[in-house]
Amino acid sequence: MKNRLISLFLFSVVAFSAPVSAAEPKPIRALLITGGCCHDYGLQAKALTGSTEKLGPITWTIFNDGGSTKNAKIKLYADPNSAKPYDVVVHNECFADLADADYTRKITNAHRGGTPAVVIHRAMHTYRTLAIDDWREFLGVTKRKHDHEAHYTVTPTAAAKNNPAMRGFPEKWVTPMEELYIIEKTWPKTTVLATAVSEADGKTYPSIWTNDFAGTRIFGTTWGHGNVTWYDPVFLTMIARGVRWAAGRDN
Ligand SMILES: [Zn+2]
Repeated sequence: MKNRLISLFLFSVVAFSAPVSAAEPKPIRALLITGGCCHDYGLQAKALTGSTEKLGPITWTIFNDGGSTKNAKIKLYADPNSAKPYDVVVHNECFADLADADYTRKITNAHRGGTPAVVIHRAMHTYRTLAIDDWREFLGVTKRKHDHEAHYTVTPTAAAKNNPAMRGFPEKWVTPMEELYIIEKTWPKTTVLATAVSEADGKTYPSIWTNDFAGTRIFGTTWGHGNVTWYDPVFLTMIARGVRWAAGRDN
């Protein structure tokens, strides 16, 4: 079923819109880049678009490319202006074994002082063997490994109160079965919004954050591994609000 869903989206571009209301006449123009190894990206795309449409008008373009491999190159990135038509780009792709500096700089240069982004789960695993740090600086975190799957307790930080993306987030959120990503470094302009504790080493790691990438808003979370998470209302609301915040809608 997973392969069938992926094949349905492979090399396809799908655009669709939510109704436009008088209170917010201009829809957010959002691009989702997804695909690659190890996750049900078709299901995740449906959940993401559905949750954001509940909060306001938004037009999604979905680009699911690269199949289910770990080292494919997404055709869209060949165009250095591919992100320009959009208010926000969501990265939910996994190409962990691709280590091409020039290719990756085309992606990050589109965001550096350019189009805002939301980075989800496997985006932090993508390009992890790169020698250059451009992708990690863009994400706002450095990650190379993760803990086992478990139910992790997520706790907002004090900074979460100042970000509308975290409005309504509970004081404690226990995840569905999830991987805890080991964030070994946060970058200087990263603001951590929520953390979780590793069962393996007892240390506290960021799991939701924002980054200022040369003046461009980046919203990130390491959650989003399993399909069950993409049915969780806390997760979906946080992601949907994060998309809106990154796109400059502070409500
Ligand atoms: Zn995963």
